[in-house]
Amino acid sequence: MRRVYFDHNATTPVDREVLAAMLPYFAEEFGNASSIHSFGQRTRTAVERARESVAALIGARPAEVVFTSGGTESDNQAILGVVAAAHGDAKHVITTQIEHSAVLNVCQALEQRGVAVTYLPVNREGLVDPDAVRRALRPETLLITVMHANNELGTVQPIEEIGRIAAEADVYFHSDAVQSAGKVLLDVDRLGVDLLSISAHKLYGPKGVGALYIRKGTRLEPLLYGGHHERDRRPGTENVAGIVGLGKASELAREKLSLDLTRISSLRDRLERGLLSCVPHARVNGSREHRTPNTSNITLPFVEGEALVIALDLKGLACSTGAACSSGAVEPSHVLTAIGLPPEEARASLRFSLGRETTDADVDFALSVVPGVVEHLRELSPVYKKPVAAQ
Ligand SMILES: *Cc1c(COP(=O)(O)O)cnc(C)c1O
Repeated sequence: MRRVYFDHNATTPVDREVLAAMLPYFAEEFGNASSIHSFGQRTRTAVERARESVAALIGARPAEVVFTSGGTESDNQAILGVVAAAHGDAKHVITTQIEHSAVLNVCQALEQRGVAVTYLPVNREGLVDPDAVRRALRPETLLITVMHANNELGTVQPIEEIGRIAAEADVYFHSDAVQSAGKVLLDVDRLGVDLLSISAHKLYGPKGVGALYIRKGTRLEPLLYGGHHERDRRPGTENVAGIVGLGKASELAREKLSLDLTRISSLRDRLERGLLSCVPHARVNGSREHRTPNTSNITLPFVEGEALVIALDLKGLACSTGAACSSGAVEPSHVLTAIGLPPEEARASLRFSLGRETTDADVDFALSVVPGVVEHLRELSPVYKKPVAAQ
């Protein structure tokens, strides 16, 4: 059966060139990068070359890049590290209601420890108002953490403006850029961030490796204690193959960014236009203007998103709802709720996220499959009235 993948915001396939770059480090190049003999020197060189590639992708200096186990660890390290380094009890963190759980749940854990957290709302388009960030500042504010691109909507936040506000207030600024790396130009100085998270597997690299940018001079406690790896920022023998993979993925992302941008966004736009015209009542969620090029989140009223994902999967099309399943109950997405969708519309939403290997034929396939499946599920819905024009 033909299988088409429209879930790149969940994870991306490993690029062939990335895999080829990684392979030697599982076998002949096995040295511990901390060893002083030649085995170690060769892997050390590979790790430092990867650090340069990651730094180049985000406009940082290599010494400001720390390798982690992925986006989740980078987010945890950034937020918990800043708070832990600020000894003193008056603490406050500003974030948004639409962050990834790797940020939201850290903030909730901080609240349990007596740290005050402001969860800023977003508008109908999923955008944070920089003035609201400014108004939320308190004398005891330590950190602002606002994601760059949202994983469900693709919405890209006004990070530069928020960066200026953070700098004026002398407050640390972290951004989760896991969904924007490789899709949007990233430059830590232009964005004005002190900390920035990325993850390899959202970038055609392997799972289980990521990086945290830490601006020179940032006071940060490590999450883990151990050896002196990563300049005492992150102990543990380096995941050399993974790090090499992230480095190669970063290089490729830089090379391919502008081509990917135009090609993928035009495929996404064609998919979106097609769905809007073929599926009655369909609506696009989030900002059309400030959005990553590969993401389309669409409400298809009168269907259950989860049921639709399963029905589409049976036809060979993989996409997602973005809504988290918890203990069997389908909670509506906190992101779609935050942009003002009522729960039934939030549950009737699908996310299509395209990628580097998506083709015109894949879009044609989706357009040939989705409208019929939606129509079929709607016919089973007691609240759906078939529009006369679509008969
Ligand atoms: C996937 C994702 C993460 C988590 O990254 P992992 O490497 O899977 O831990 C964090 N933030 C965002 C926005 C993501 O999309």
